[in-house]
Amino acid sequence: MTMSGATSALSNPLTRNVRADRSPTDFSAYEANGGYQALRSTIGKVAPADCLQILKDSNLRGRGGAGFPTGMKWSFVPMGDAVTPGHKYLICNADEMEPGTFKDRLLMECDPHQLIEGMILSAYTLQADVSYIFIRAEYYKAAALLREAIATCHAKGYLGENILGSDFSLKMHVHVSAGRYICGEETALINALEGKRANPRAKPPFPQVSGLWGRPTIVNNVETLCNVHHIIERGADWFQALGKGEDAGTKMYGVSGRVKNPGCWELPIGTSVREIIEEHAGGMEDGYKLRGFLPGGGSTDFLVEEHLDLPMDYGSIGKAGSRMGTGTMIILDDRTCPVGFVRNLTQFFAQESCGFCTPCRDGLPWTAQVLGSIAEGTGRPEDMDTLAHQIGYIGAMGNTHCALAPGAMEPLQSAIKYFRDDFEAHIHDRECRFDARGCR
Ligand code: SF4
Repeated sequence: MTMSGATSALSNPLTRNVRADRSPTDFSAYEANGGYQALRSTIGKVAPADCLQILKDSNLRGRGGAGFPTGMKWSFVPMGDAVTPGHKYLICNADEMEPGTFKDRLLMECDPHQLIEGMILSAYTLQADVSYIFIRAEYYKAAALLREAIATCHAKGYLGENILGSDFSLKMHVHVSAGRYICGEETALINALEGKRANPRAKPPFPQVSGLWGRPTIVNNVETLCNVHHIIERGADWFQALGKGEDAGTKMYGVSGRVKNPGCWELPIGTSVREIIEEHAGGMEDGYKLRGFLPGGGSTDFLVEEHLDLPMDYGSIGKAGSRMGTGTMIILDDRTCPVGFVRNLTQFFAQESCGFCTPCRDGLPWTAQVLGSIAEGTGRPEDMDTLAHQIGYIGAMGNTHCALAPGAMEPLQSAIKYFRDDFEAHIHDRECRFDARGCR
C-alpha cells in the first residue's frame, strides 16, 4: 500500500501526518503539526449548535458507503430540552469489512490522534457523553494505537471529566468486534455493542432518536469523523473548495487488483476514475487490460472502460448505474474470469448473511450454488433465468430487512449485463476459458 501527495495540510487534511513508512504519528508529532488546535479553540468557546451549522454548510457526506449528508443526520438528534436526561452516544464504525476496502485502516494506523480529535469534536457538537470505536478484530494494531492515544488524551485533559475546564465531559472506549460484515449496518452494530446477536433493527425508530440502549446515538465511519475537526477549524467554504465537482472535501480513494501500484490516496472528491487508476495506481500491470471495475467495494455494480472519465463522486457514479460506496475500486482484468470473480463475492455475502430474513439467508446460498455450477462446468442454460429471477427478487429494496442482500446482487447483475458471454460460454463449453481459480 502506498501513499501520495500527503504534504499540504490544506489540500490533504486527512493524510498530512501519514509518513512514507506508515509509522504512527504520536501525540507530540500530532500536536506539533497543529493537532488538537481545533479542540482547544472550540470546546467551551464555540456553541455546539454553531459547530453543527458549520458541518451542515460544509456538505460533508458520510464516507462509509451511503453518502448521507452528515450535518443533516446529526440534526435529527434531539438537543437541549428535547432530550430526556441520560446518555447520548457517538459510535465510530471502524469495522471496515467491505471487500477491497482498506482506507480506514490506514487512517487509524498512521494517525490515530486525528480520529480521536475528530470524535471529541463530533461528540461535543452532539453533546454526547460516551463514545465507542467499534473496530474489527483483525485491526489489532490500530486498536492498540487508539487505546494508547485515548490514554494520552486522558492524561492531557482532552478526554474525561470537564475537558479543558469546560462543562463538557466525554468517555471513549475501544470495542473490538467479534467479526461480522453485517456490523457495518449501524443498527446491527448497535445490537452487537449491546451484546446481542448482530441483526439489523427495524427503522424507525432511527438511532439518532433511539439507538444504543434506547438513547440518541450517532454512528459514523472513521473517514467521516476524521474530517470533522478540520471543518470546524477551517470552515465550510474551505472544505467545499477542496472538492472538484458537486461534492465537497477530499476522499480516500483506493485501487486493488492487477495494477502496478495498488494503494490508497487522499484526492479531491470528484477526481476522475482514469486519473485514479492510471496516474495514482500506475495503470494496469504489463500483460493485463482493464475489463471492468467495482468502484466502491464488493457490493457495488461493475462499470467498464466507457466510464473511466467519470468523476468519482456520488452523483456521477450513481447516474452511471453503480455506487461510489467506499471509493475503493476493485479491478477486473482481462485474464480473470468474471464468473469466478462474482462467485467468490456471492459466497462471501452468503456467508455473511445474518440469517434474519429468508430471501437473504436462503437466497444468497442458492445463488452462490447456481454460480458454482456454472463456474465448475455443470451449469444449465436455464440457470441464467434462475439468476435473473434471484437478482430481481433479492436485489429489490424492500424484499429484505436490510441492504446486505440487494448489495450482494449488484456485482452479479452488472457482471451479467457486461460479461454475459462469459457466463454463457461457461455453460456451453463446460469449462473456463481462463482456467481461473474461482472456477475450478
Ligand atoms: Fe440479515 Fe440478510 Fe436480512 Fe440483512 S438482508 S437482515 S443481512 S438476512
